[in-house]
Amino acid sequence: MGRSGRWTGVIVALLAPACGSSTGSAVSPPAGPATSTGPSLATAAPESRVPHATTTLEAVGLDPTALDRAADPCRDFYQFACGGWIAKTEIPPDRSRWSRSFGEIQKRNEAELKRILEEASKSKSDDVVTKKIGAYYAACMDEAAVERAGTKPIAPLLSAAKKVSDARSFAAAITALHRGKIWALFDMSAEPDSKNATRMIAQLDQGGLGLPDRDYYLRDDDKSKEIRDKYRAHVERMMKLAGFSAKEVETAVSDVMNVETELAKVSKTRVERRDPNGLYNKIDRKGLPKTAADFPWDDYFKALGFPDIQDVSVTSVPFFEGMNRLLTQEKPPAWRNYLAWHVVHQVAPVLPKAFVDEDFAFQQVLSGQKEIRARWKRCVDATDGALPELLAQPFIKEKFAGDSKTAAETMVAEISRQFGRELDQLDWMDPKTRERAAAKLKAMEYLIGYPSKWKTYDCDVDPKAFARNVMAAHAFELKRDLGKVGKQVDRQEWQMSPPRVDAYYDAQKNHMVFPAGILQPPFYSAKAAVPVNLGGIGMVVGHELTHGFDDEGSQFAADGNLGNWWEPQASERFKAKTQCVDEQYGGYEPLPGVKLNGKLTLGENVADGGGVMLAFRAYREMRKNAHEVSVADGFSEDQQFFLAVGQAWCNKQTEQITRMLAQVDPHSPPKFRVNGSLSNLPEFAQAFSCAEGTPMHPAKACKVW
Ligand SMILES: [Zn+2]
Repeated sequence: MGRSGRWTGVIVALLAPACGSSTGSAVSPPAGPATSTGPSLATAAPESRVPHATTTLEAVGLDPTALDRAADPCRDFYQFACGGWIAKTEIPPDRSRWSRSFGEIQKRNEAELKRILEEASKSKSDDVVTKKIGAYYAACMDEAAVERAGTKPIAPLLSAAKKVSDARSFAAAITALHRGKIWALFDMSAEPDSKNATRMIAQLDQGGLGLPDRDYYLRDDDKSKEIRDKYRAHVERMMKLAGFSAKEVETAVSDVMNVETELAKVSKTRVERRDPNGLYNKIDRKGLPKTAADFPWDDYFKALGFPDIQDVSVTSVPFFEGMNRLLTQEKPPAWRNYLAWHVVHQVAPVLPKAFVDEDFAFQQVLSGQKEIRARWKRCVDATDGALPELLAQPFIKEKFAGDSKTAAETMVAEISRQFGRELDQLDWMDPKTRERAAAKLKAMEYLIGYPSKWKTYDCDVDPKAFARNVMAAHAFELKRDLGKVGKQVDRQEWQMSPPRVDAYYDAQKNHMVFPAGILQPPFYSAKAAVPVNLGGIGMVVGHELTHGFDDEGSQFAADGNLGNWWEPQASERFKAKTQCVDEQYGGYEPLPGVKLNGKLTLGENVADGGGVMLAFRAYREMRKNAHEVSVADGFSEDQQFFLAVGQAWCNKQTEQITRMLAQVDPHSPPKFRVNGSLSNLPEFAQAFSCAEGTPMHPAKACKVW
């Protein structure tokens, strides 16, 4: 769930920094890897009865050069698993973060997609898929044509904004923007009804900000003030590029800041947005004028082409009430400026170089990225963003071997079985709640690789008109999306492009999705050993499954409906357990003075904890009848599993992005994802013989699942 507020889709996926929190002294644990006769093997019970086969880290699928053997695995396991990689890796100048897994796989996928698109753009084939993706990419790559078009592609939008003088013209301007998914003021999409998860409704959401979060407008620390100053200067330069005079620009900047700050004040925080009950306010079409009387709703829905939409939920009543107050407070000239800014701001990436460069210059302030990504990389992204399930088709043919799908299915089945066992053994859950949890687990489905039925894209693509193509693609998607309102939920539809290196759990469909993009080394390899694959992709599978039972997912029942299925006492105990995780991660400090938000990251941290526990047990189960166990450069199979967990998350990122993500990302930085979840797992301390009281074996551990 969740989408990025930017038009061309800046993706914030899953990544991390480096820094430390080590206190424990106690017995100093082994600094290097265990030898085959060392203490860690002696404690690995299931392995002691069968013969040992000696092998190497490389042979099992781990990277010996990524290790920092001087680091103490009981103090900072992430450093032990990744320190060598961190020392030798530079963040590529066109990235704000880089990881051994996500980054490297993305790089490979990107090269493959480039090859596919270059071939398609030159092809004379009549194949619909080839023609469309080829033309889209070619138009994006044709920088000369983009320069020649200048600001013409946005002229109709700017002129609609300029005409705002009353409610009618305001509705006309807003719909002109929204039709192309330029979301000013608020945004809208079709979503399953939280309380009737088989049916789609329209969801109206808070929005309309140019900075990444409401807090950027409202915080008073020096960093926030500095970013606001730079944002003002950026708005000024962009409006000048769009043809505003020096005098007009001055007023425009203050109008933009006023409107956005007022919207920020009535916006929910990211933590508030983790409460699914709070996000569900099914007021329907008739409730909209009661909430925001001065917005011309009928004109709006009619102009979008969906006059009959009735099923409407808003994510926040106070936001739309606040928006309504603002509509009467601010005069038409302010709205003209605000809307014009959002056109320029959101369409900038498809405009001439001057806009692209200025847009990137401000992105740099936020992310610390040194260079803009090469044009071809941006064009691969743009094509993937607009025509994901067309571009995926040749990609899947080339890159997705059937073996990873079968392996993933085996892992999902085993991990799911392990969660069932966990439920059976829990001492804190009453029989009724346990039964409902088991029913939810049983009903949980999964999709692997790519969709069973490809989407079509019935929009025109002209190899010479990039901006027009982008707008046509957006307009088509909005129609497709809103066309679902009032209809049955399509359980086979994917929310993620198959080449993406990512995965998700959808609480309303109660299913997990693992795109082909992530089923690759170092997450999964047919050549890697079982413990290593389970520490990689197995942990990801366990993570997604646990999302069904984290603090947020657990509020949805087996059928995807929002509703409480917990008996009061089990619910109380569950809350106490998640509170422990909240406090644990809230204590982590990725940068001096920058703490993680334990409440914002709670769901992801609970999922990591469950994920690593489930994957570990699944690996043990899959290896329980092994005729011999492998010892790789002295590391036992248990240790190999944990090294695989660590090495799947080796990561480097700029200070700026660390700061930004601490505010907006529900995921903790990789270092804490690894150390936080492993330090809660007794099997980890056992595998590396970590004495109680060391940072990786604290006296107080947090176990939810
Ligand atoms: Zn997650």
